[in-house]
Amino acid sequence: MFGRLMHYINGEWVPSRARKVKEIFNPATGEFLAKVPFATRREVDEAVRAAAAAFPAWREVPPVVRTQYLFQMKAVLEREFDEIARIIVQEHGKTLKEAQGELRRGIENIEVATGIPTLMQGYYAEDVARGIDEYLIRQPLGVVAVITPFNFPAMIPLWFIPYALATGNTVVLKPSERTPITMTYIMQLFDEEVGLPPGVLNLIHGNGDAATALIDHPDVKAVSFVGSTPVARKVYARAAAQGKRVQAQGSAKNPLIIMPDAAVERTVQAVLDSVYGNAGQRCLAASLVITVGEAREIFVPRLVEAAQQRVVGYGLDEGVEMGPVNSAESKARIERLIEEGVKEGARLLLDGRGASVPGYEKGHWIRPTILDGVPEGGTIFTTEIFGPVMGLMHADTLDEAIRIANRIPYGNMANIFTRSGAAARTFRHRIEAGNVGINIGVAAPMAFFPFSGWKESFFGDLHAQDRHAVEFYTQTKVVVERWFD
Ligand code: NAD
Repeated sequence: MFGRLMHYINGEWVPSRARKVKEIFNPATGEFLAKVPFATRREVDEAVRAAAAAFPAWREVPPVVRTQYLFQMKAVLEREFDEIARIIVQEHGKTLKEAQGELRRGIENIEVATGIPTLMQGYYAEDVARGIDEYLIRQPLGVVAVITPFNFPAMIPLWFIPYALATGNTVVLKPSERTPITMTYIMQLFDEEVGLPPGVLNLIHGNGDAATALIDHPDVKAVSFVGSTPVARKVYARAAAQGKRVQAQGSAKNPLIIMPDAAVERTVQAVLDSVYGNAGQRCLAASLVITVGEAREIFVPRLVEAAQQRVVGYGLDEGVEMGPVNSAESKARIERLIEEGVKEGARLLLDGRGASVPGYEKGHWIRPTILDGVPEGGTIFTTEIFGPVMGLMHADTLDEAIRIANRIPYGNMANIFTRSGAAARTFRHRIEAGNVGINIGVAAPMAFFPFSGWKESFFGDLHAQDRHAVEFYTQTKVVVERWFD
C-alpha cells in the first residue's frame, strides 16, 4: 500500500541502500502495509550533514518568518486530518477517535510553537553598574535528533519538531520502525506544501542502530528521545557522555487511587478509558488501580462489569472502543505477564487472553483483563505491561495508598478520584509523579505545559513541550554592555 519507505534528506526523497528491512502489517487485519529500511551509518551521516549545512542560514531566518512555516504545517495537517488519523489506525491499531485525539494533541504543539517570537525573548537589566547594561538572549543549538516510539506515531514527533524548528535548529527525525508510515506521509505533505528550505527537516528510517549512529554523530548537538526506560537510560548516558544536551522520556506504571467518596459512574468511565484507551499502549495509561477502604466493594464489581462490555475490534469500524495491540510480539509479552501475575498470587477477575474478533482472524487481540490482589513489589507492580491489563490493589487508608503508589519505580502519572478537597490536596502534595490527575483519568498536559515525568520515567532536566522545549532547544548568551562617549 505504501511500498518501500524512503528517507527524506536535504529536501529530497532518497531510497535507502539498506539490505535490512522490516515489514509493516495492519495489526487488526494483517494486511501488508509497507517495508521500512534500516538506514545505514552512511545514510544517517548524509541526513545529519544536510541538517548541519542548512543550519547557518536557517538560524538567520527571523523567528517571525520561521513561524510562518509552522502556520502552513498546521493548515496542511488540519486539511488532511482524517486521512492521517486513518493511517495511524492502520499502522498502529488504535481506534479512529484515539488517532484523531493524538493528532489534535500533536497539532496543539505547532500552535504553541508559533508563539516562539515571544517565548524566545530574553531579558534585560539597565544600569547593573553605572552606565552598564546586561541582557540575556537565546540562540539555537544546531542539529537536533528526534527519536520516537511506536505508540503515538504523529503526536510524539510533534512534541519536538515545531519547537526545535521555530527556535532556529535543524532536525533529523527517526520515527519508530514499528509505525513509520504516519510521519512519512506527514513529511510528504510538508515537502509538497510547506516549502521549508532543504535540510531543515529530515527523516531517516531505522532501528536502534540508526538511532545510535544519530546520537553519536559529532554534528548532532541535542537529542530528544521517547521510548522505553532501558533504552531511555542508555540514550541519556550515551548522549551526556559526549557532552550533548539530552532529554529522554521512558516507561511508566501509573497508579490511580479511588477513594470511597468518588463519583461512581464518572469514575468508572474515566478509569476504564485510562486503562484500556489505546489498548493500554500509552505512557499515561492507568495501570495499577488502588481502592481505599469501602471503595473496594463499591468499585470492583462495577469496573469488572464495565470492562467486560468494552467493544473490541478494528479501529476503523463504527462503535469500536478498543483496538488490537500493535504486534504479535506485544501480544505474547502481555499474555506472558498476565501468567506471571497469576503465578505471583494475583487473581484473574477478567481474562482477556485467547480473544478473537470475527472477520479479523489475523488481529493481535487481547480483551480487557483485570488482575486483583497484585502483590506489592512483584512483577505486575514493577513492570510496565503496555497492554489492556488493570492491576487492582487495596489499601485501608489514603496514607497507605500513597505509600504504595510511591513505591512504584516510575513517576509518569498518578491520579486520584475523590470528592474530598483535603484528600486531593494531600495526594497532590505527596505523590511522586510529574503528571497528576484529580478526577481525571489521563492527565496529559496541554502543549502549553511541560510533560513532566519523574523517577524512572524521565532522564534529563527539561521536558517536552512549552517553555521547557524552548529552554532545551536554545542556549543562553548573557551580554554585559557599556558604551564609551
Ligand atoms: P523503544 O524503547 O523500543 O523504542 C523507542 C525508540 O528508540 C525507537 O525509535 C527505536 O528505534 C529506538 N531505539 C531502540 N533501541 C535503541 C537504542 N539502543 N538506542 C537508541 N535508540 C533505540 O520503545 P517503544 O516500544 O517504541 O515505545 C513504547 C515505550 O515508550 C513505552 O515504554 C512507553 O511508556 C514509552 N513512552 C513514553 C512516553 C513518555 O512520555 N514518557 C511517551 C510515549 C511512550
